[in-house]
Amino acid sequence: MTEQPSELDRREQLARNLAAVQGRIAAAAALRELPAPQLIVVTKFHPAADVRLLAGLGVRDFGENRDQEASAKAAEVAGFADIAPPLPRWHFIGQLQSNKAKSVVKYAHSVHSVDRLQLAAALDKAMAVEAERSGRPPLDCFIQVNLDEDADAQSGPAGRGGAAPGTVPELAERIASSERLRLAGVMAVAPLGVSPDAAFDKLAAVSARLQVQHPEASGISAGMSQDLEAALRFGATHLRIGSDILGSRPAVG
Ligand SMILES: *Cc1c(COP(=O)(O)O)cnc(C)c1O
Repeated sequence: MTEQPSELDRREQLARNLAAVQGRIAAAAALRELPAPQLIVVTKFHPAADVRLLAGLGVRDFGENRDQEASAKAAEVAGFADIAPPLPRWHFIGQLQSNKAKSVVKYAHSVHSVDRLQLAAALDKAMAVEAERSGRPPLDCFIQVNLDEDADAQSGPAGRGGAAPGTVPELAERIASSERLRLAGVMAVAPLGVSPDAAFDKLAAVSARLQVQHPEASGISAGMSQDLEAALRFGATHLRIGSDILGSRPAVG
C-alpha cells in the first residue's frame, strides 16, 4: 500500500482529474451538436470517502462492477450526513449473476450489463419485491452488447462481453414488457485488439436498429478513460470513467 494522501490533497487531486476529464468531454462534445453526455465516475476499488469528495465536487452518478463492493459502499455513502442532495446514483456496470439481482435493485439506479433473458427475468422479479417495499422507480436497463467479430456465431450463454447483436431484439422485448424495468439503451466495452472506432461504430448501428422498435431506448453507454473521445464520435450518451479520475486501481491478482 502506498502512502495515503491527506483528505485535502485527495480532494485537490480528484478535482484536478475531474476537471481534466470534463475538459476532454467538452472538447469532444463541441465537435458534435448533441447534448452533453452523462458522466458516470467508476469508483470500483476506491473507498466511500472518495465518493463523498466527488459528490462535494458535483458528481452525482457513480459506477461499480461488483455487487459485494457496491452494496457495502452504497450503504456507507447513504450513511454520510454531509452529502447534499441530489444524492448519489449507482450504476451497476459489471457482469452480474442472476442470484445477485435482489441485492443490486436495493441500491442501483441502473444496470448497464443486462446480457441475457435469465438476468432480465431475475431483475424483473427482484424489482417486483423492491418496488413494493420501497416504492422505488423502475430500474434503467442497458443491454450490454458483445462487439467481438464473431459474437453472433458464438454458441452458448453470453460470455464476458455481453449479448450477441442478434439476440438484442428479444432481450429488448423482455425488458420493455416489464413495468418495473425501463429499457434505456445499449452498452459495450470496446474489445481488445480492435480499433475503438470500429467497435463504437458497430454499437451505434445496433443502437439505431434497437430504436426502430424502441425509440425511447436511445442511451449508448460507451467510453472509458482511454477511449471516451472515440465513443463520443459515435454517439455515446453515457461515459464510464474510472482511472483517469480516481487514479490507477490496485492490481488484482
Ligand atoms: C472499470 C470499468 C470502467 C472504467 O474504466 P477506466 O479505464 O478505469 O476508465 C468502465 N466500464 C466498465 C464496464 C468497467 O468495468
